[in-house]
Amino acid sequence: MEVKKQTVDRPLDYIERIPGGAIITTTVDRVFGWARESSLWYMLFGLACCAIEMMAAGAARFDLDRFGMIFRATPRQSDLMIVAGTVTKKMAPRVKRLYEQMSEPRYVIAMGSCANAGGPFADSYAVVKGVDTIIPVDVYVPGCPPRPEALINGIMELRKKIKEETRTEKSERVNAGR
Ligand code: SF4
Repeated sequence: MEVKKQTVDRPLDYIERIPGGAIITTTVDRVFGWARESSLWYMLFGLACCAIEMMAAGAARFDLDRFGMIFRATPRQSDLMIVAGTVTKKMAPRVKRLYEQMSEPRYVIAMGSCANAGGPFADSYAVVKGVDTIIPVDVYVPGCPPRPEALINGIMELRKKIKEETRTEKSERVNAGR
């Protein structure tokens, strides 16, 4: 008789099979979720005028540091990309490459009308009509430009999303390379 080999991908999957193990894994998941949403490191990168508002959000008055957010000058150490500005067709492959170089799980906020849908340049031959046509977006922040408060609201929405993400959603995200 052929013995079917059971594979255990992750230690948490193994713990979950022990009676009462689900309580432990749920608690561990919550701790990880809390840690992740409380320490979003965003990439130091801006594309156009919206980036000025993003810089203002990070500076002393709005102070993103109080949410545990610090900017990193390398995609390898970033888990949040704030696409602040117009994405031109020339820049699009670079944006995609930077996204792919970020650590997983990674999140994206599209900031402003240009990143959301092309904004005032939507009819231009040179502008991408929404960054979500090249990378997956988690939160859209409207406005031209959105004020720092609007960006902070978008960040709060993302934090809520990360906190409430179930294990299945997390697995799907990782399997999809996000
Ligand atoms: S949405 Fe407005 S402010 Fe932001 S990059 Fe586009 S034109 Fe500039």
